[in-house]
Amino acid sequence: MDAIWTLGNQDTPRYAPLNADADADVAIIGAGITGLTTALTLAEAGQKVIVLEAREVGGGVTGGSTGNLYSTLASGQASIRKKWGDEVSRDVIRARSEAVDVIEALIERFAIDCQFQRQPAYRVEPANDSKAGYDWDEEKAALADAGLDVEAADHPGLPFATQGIKISDQAQFNPLHYVQGLATVASDLGVIIHEHSPVRNVDHKQGTVTTDTACVSARHVVYATHTPKGLNLLQAGMLVSREYAVSARLKSGHYPEGIIWAMDPFHSLRSYRQGNEQHVIVIGEKHKTGEQKGDHYRHLQEYLQTHFDVEAFTSQWSAQQYSSPDGLPYIGRLHGQDTVYLATGFAADGLTWGTLAAMIISDQVLGRDNPWQARFDARRITPGKSATQYTKENAHVARHMFKDYLSTEKLKEADEVAPGQARVAKVDGEELAIHRTEDGQLKVLSAVCPHMKCIVHWNNAESTWDCPCHGSRFDCDGEVIEGPSYHPLARRIR
Ligand SMILES: Cc1cc2nc3c(=O)[nH]c(=O)nc-3n(C[C@H](O)[C@H](O)[C@H](O)COP(=O)(O)OP(=O)(O)OC[C@H]3O[C@@H](n4cnc5c(N)ncnc54)[C@H](O)[C@@H]3O)c2cc1C
Repeated sequence: MDAIWTLGNQDTPRYAPLNADADADVAIIGAGITGLTTALTLAEAGQKVIVLEAREVGGGVTGGSTGNLYSTLASGQASIRKKWGDEVSRDVIRARSEAVDVIEALIERFAIDCQFQRQPAYRVEPANDSKAGYDWDEEKAALADAGLDVEAADHPGLPFATQGIKISDQAQFNPLHYVQGLATVASDLGVIIHEHSPVRNVDHKQGTVTTDTACVSARHVVYATHTPKGLNLLQAGMLVSREYAVSARLKSGHYPEGIIWAMDPFHSLRSYRQGNEQHVIVIGEKHKTGEQKGDHYRHLQEYLQTHFDVEAFTSQWSAQQYSSPDGLPYIGRLHGQDTVYLATGFAADGLTWGTLAAMIISDQVLGRDNPWQARFDARRITPGKSATQYTKENAHVARHMFKDYLSTEKLKEADEVAPGQARVAKVDGEELAIHRTEDGQLKVLSAVCPHMKCIVHWNNAESTWDCPCHGSRFDCDGEVIEGPSYHPLARRIR
């Protein structure tokens, strides 16, 4: 099922695939919030920009996000302050507040219809929950010292008693309608957008970006792909996770207001109105990509049913996040490349980071200084702050590399897989990802992820093959959905 943001999508402009070689000042790979904000900003500065998108505008994580815009971080301000100290904690709030203001200004200037609304953000726990153990004093002090006004939470309209804090003047919108609006404006300003144009290769030296059908040559190349494509050192320390979302209509008509982070242990809640219908959305059930356990959608439905008078569930979807080992995003020029740029490591906060990334990268392309470029530099090396996660994630990859190859079950024939089942198995000495659809069609792929040769795992909730090493994901036919792999899983004819 699609994310709730697609409800009410009418007459969305579509953009033709790339079918002939072309030249540009800037080639941008990816039409999410990062790519399209960069494209629009550069087009306004007179650059010729081509955007290549593997799927559709907003079809990556932007269109699967919660649509919350805030200057702090969903994981809390105290954790970034502990790791980096007061100055960086303040910079995070200032840079992110500026980015939220940029989004608001673009919406106003171009009349983008995406239900932008200033709203408070709440971080709460169930009242008198002695088990929760959240350190409110530490979080309040970190926010206040970073320059935010923090108050005790009033009632965000939840049907259970809570205690916690409130930060005023944050915002919410429909993230898909926002980027669709950006695409329309960018296109009117001369940006050429191509959907259904997966990039398969980038030659940094030549400045060429190649799809299955044609090639774009550009002076600058921007990876606005959420994670860098192909092999990149930054992937090594990244924690890659999936999160799930469920929305519902309520019988009572009483919906919560604002951004709500419920520390129980963690669910993100918000409401959304589309036409005459309102919905409550819950996000949670985070796990490492490729390590799905249990029925995450059912757990979220049960969470909603426990707390709200659910009339009907209206949609469900999932999305992926990349958390950097030192807690800050990587934005700007790639190591050793002065005309190739990336933006990654946004964790669950990337609508705002992606907008900031667009500001920084656009300034770098245009040869202008940006006050935030050094702080979030993609070339930084921070072993002291990165070591713990870096070591953990590399051990995790090594474990999967060995364990998954050694523990693959053996089948005589791929035909042994029953309808509705998927298995990774060794057949005739080769690791295969085998799936039989409910109507009996057998789909046999190589189980070896083309990115770094790990073995993919079946994700039952999404019917996808997910790589536990660096988060590449593939549909049942092997095509890349997201992640660092440029290439599909090889098809095997049986
Ligand atoms: C469940 C969930 C909820 C979230 N909610 C929020 C929130 O409320 N607020 C917030 O600030 N952040 C949120 N985030 C994070 C945020 O959504 C992302 O960090 C942000 O949308 C990333 O934007 P992007 O443009 O960089 O990436 P994307 O939106 O993923 O765009 C990248 C694009 O690149 C394309 N692409 C990839 N490879 C290729 C290729 N080879 N060729 C061509 N195109 C390619 C993809 O198809 C995709 O469209 C959430 C994340 C999750 C997982």
